[in-house]
Amino acid sequence: MERKLWIVKHDDGISGYFFDTQRRVTIDVFNVIGDFISIRKKKIGTDGRNRTIYALQNHIFTQLVDDDPCEIERQYDCYYEEMHREVKRAFINLKKALVIINSPSAKPQRRINDFEELKSILGLNFAVEISQFENDCDVSKAPQTMKDNFSITYKNCKSVTDLVFSMLHFYISNRYRLIQCKHCGKYAAVSSFKQTYCNRISTYRGHSQKKDKKPLACEQAVRDAKQQHARQRKSLYDKMQKATAYHAHNVYNRFLAECENHRMRIDIAPSVANLVAYDNYLYQVSQKREWTKMDMEEVVKQMDEYYERFGDMFPTMAFQNATPDEVSKMILDCLEKDKKMKVDLDVVY
Ligand SMILES: [Zn+2]
Repeated sequence: MERKLWIVKHDDGISGYFFDTQRRVTIDVFNVIGDFISIRKKKIGTDGRNRTIYALQNHIFTQLVDDDPCEIERQYDCYYEEMHREVKRAFINLKKALVIINSPSAKPQRRINDFEELKSILGLNFAVEISQFENDCDVSKAPQTMKDNFSITYKNCKSVTDLVFSMLHFYISNRYRLIQCKHCGKYAAVSSFKQTYCNRISTYRGHSQKKDKKPLACEQAVRDAKQQHARQRKSLYDKMQKATAYHAHNVYNRFLAECENHRMRIDIAPSVANLVAYDNYLYQVSQKREWTKMDMEEVVKQMDEYYERFGDMFPTMAFQNATPDEVSKMILDCLEKDKKMKVDLDVVY
């Protein structure tokens, strides 16, 4: 079946479509290859007889090549196997192409030549057609700021490899690189290595985030999470500072060191996992409220001092629900004012 990739450059950006004889499917030009790379692979079977299974999950390429109804009805298993072989082949060849695309030192023309060479070695013969540049397939020669729309069509795409390579051809001739997003870890086509995030929607959700919060793209999500973490950290830090307990000092130092570790890790790799780890840590600290729990040893020392001073035990039974920190405050208060704690016995029992 004849399939086509059609890319349109217009004032608002770039749109892409796949066609076959029956339909047109919109694709995300910058992420379609990255999503393909992310398809999960799994090895099954025993040694010597193992094979790779791909969780294709409706990826656009496989949608187009996957459902020729007559074929499926006739010999579903066989077709499915063939499909997997197709995807596997595309994967292997894609790896070789990525080396060319991302070669940091090679000049654009050199990369195009290397790519064309690989294309011919693989025997791919999709044809490229650019609407406003007759007899010239090099999109990189197109003016950078074009007022009029132009389109580029990749015809005669028969296999998954054809679809992948026609998309790669577009990247390479327009000087795009494929980067791995620092946040979501998926690959995306970008115009410069300086760009380190993709435009996908982040899956990160923090504990304190509202349920109805609008979804954010990777870069914005990281910025947002960092601000959120800084606010949470500050709020916990303030509470710890207010806690007068002796033990709180240890809690406080441990907390600062742990936050610093998380922050450093996030600065190097602001991945979803690292943001979640810091968020979970802050959440746990806020739940445990460790700064309110004073070291019992210190309370015992204060109680001894109370006994020596007043010749009587501090009436702890009257304050069974108080935290050690609160008891400590009461004892210190008595010592400071030089007054015994008055307890209304009716209330106690
Ligand atoms: Zn991303």
